[in-house]
Amino acid sequence: MKTDILIVGAGFAGAVCARELAEAGRKVLVIDKRSHIGGNAYDRIDEHGVLIHPYGPHIFHTNSRRIFEWLSRFTDWRFYEHRVLAQVEGQLLPIPINRTTINRLYGLDLDEAGVAAWLEKVREPRDPIRTSEDVVLNSVGHDLCDKFFRGYTRKQWGLDLSELSAGVAARIPTRTNDDDRYFTDTYQFMPADGYTAMFRRMLDHPNIIVELNTDYFNIRDRLRANHTVYTGPIDAFFDYCYGRLPYRSLHFEHLHLPNTEWFQKVGTVNYPNDYDYTRITEFKHLTGQKHPGTSIVREYPKAEGDPYYPIPRQENETLYKRYEAIAKTRKDVTFVGRLAQYRYYNMDQVVGAVLSKLIKVRDELNG
Ligand code: FAD
Ligand code: UDP
Repeated sequence: MKTDILIVGAGFAGAVCARELAEAGRKVLVIDKRSHIGGNAYDRIDEHGVLIHPYGPHIFHTNSRRIFEWLSRFTDWRFYEHRVLAQVEGQLLPIPINRTTINRLYGLDLDEAGVAAWLEKVREPRDPIRTSEDVVLNSVGHDLCDKFFRGYTRKQWGLDLSELSAGVAARIPTRTNDDDRYFTDTYQFMPADGYTAMFRRMLDHPNIIVELNTDYFNIRDRLRANHTVYTGPIDAFFDYCYGRLPYRSLHFEHLHLPNTEWFQKVGTVNYPNDYDYTRITEFKHLTGQKHPGTSIVREYPKAEGDPYYPIPRQENETLYKRYEAIAKTRKDVTFVGRLAQYRYYNMDQVVGAVLSKLIKVRDELNG
C-alpha cells in the first residue's frame, strides 16, 4: 500500500499537521491505534448525558493569537477561566498561592505589600535554580512547599521535587494579589461544542482519510509513504534501541452523581497531602453544561500504562537527546508532539510546534 503522507496519531499534533498538509494539496492518511480522534484531548458524552474528558481535564489557554486564530477556524469558543482550590489542613485554599491562601492559612490580614514582605522573609533564595525544589523554596520557602508541592509532586511523578527539572514547578506561579485564576493567558476558552467536534471539523477535508484502531507498528512494513509524521512515543519508533524513556501514566476514575447539581465549588480541587489521587475535576464547570446530575474524575498517577507525561529531568533529557539525534537523520520522518518530542507541552504548544515544523516538512517534500 502506498500513500503520499502518513500521519501517525490523530491528536493535536497529527490533526493540525493533517489539515495544513491537506490544504497544501497533499493526500494524507491519518492513523490512530485508538478508536477515536483527538488524542488525549478527546471528549465525549458519558452514559448519563454529561460531556466528559476521558483522559483528564483539558483547558485551552494560550498567549499566541496566531494559534488561537488557527484553531478558531474549526470551533466557536466558550469563555472559561479555570480556578483550582487545594485541600490543605482541612481548608480549601487557592492554588496558585495568592494573598488569600497566605492570609487564611496563617490567620493573617496582610495587604499586597504585606504579602510580598512576608514572602521575602519565608522564602529560601536559591541560585542557581536547577530543580523544581529550587523553584518552590526560592519563591515560598519550606512550609508552603511541604503543604502544597512536595506531597502532590511525589504522588504525581513518583519523585521528589529535587529530582525534577525546574520547569515542572515553574508552571505554577506565586501571587501577592487575590487573582485566583489558574492561568493568566490572554486567551482562555473551551471549544463551544467540545474538543472532538473541533477535531472532526479539522479532519473533514477531501484530502484526508482517517483510519482508527490501526497501530503503526502493525502496518509499517506494508505501508509506503513519501513522508511520515510520527506523533507517538519516540523511543517506540526506534524499537527502544537506547532503552525506554520514562513516561508517567494515570488511572482515571470517572464517577457520575445523579441528582447532584454541583459536587465542588470550582473546576478542580487538588489534594496535595491526602488520598492516592492528586485531584478531582468536575466537568460541568469547564464546559458550562446544564444537567441535573454531575460527572467528576479522580486522577491516580502510576508508572505503567498509557504514556501521558514525559518526565522532565536531566537524565531523561540526555536519553531523549540520543533518540533525537537518530530522528534527525531520518529525512523521511517528522517527529512532532508531546510524546515524539518528549516535551511537557500544553495543547497550544503542540499546535505551535506543528506550525513551525511544517516549514521543514514542506521543504523535504518539495525536494
Ligand atoms: P496525543 O494527544 O497523545 O496524541 C498522540 C496520538 O498518537 C494518540 O491518540 C495515540 O493513540 C496515537 N499513537 C501513539 N502511538 C501510535 C501508534 N503506534 N500507532 C497509531 N497511533 C499511535 N494541555 C493543555 O493545554 N491544557 C490542559 O488543561 C491539559 N490538561 C491535561 C491533562 C492531562 C491529564 C494530560 C495527560 C494532558 C493534559 N494536557 C493539557 C496536555 C495535552 O493533552 C497535550 O499537550 C496534547 O493532547 C498532546 O497532543 P499530541 O498530539 O502531541 O499527543
Ligand atoms: N503542583 C503541586 N501542587 C499543586 C499543583 C501543582 O505540587 O497543587 C506541581 C506538581 O509537581 C505538578 C506540577 O506542579 O505536576 C504542574 O502542575 P499542573 O497543574 O500544571 O499539572 P498538569 O495539569 O499538567 O497535570
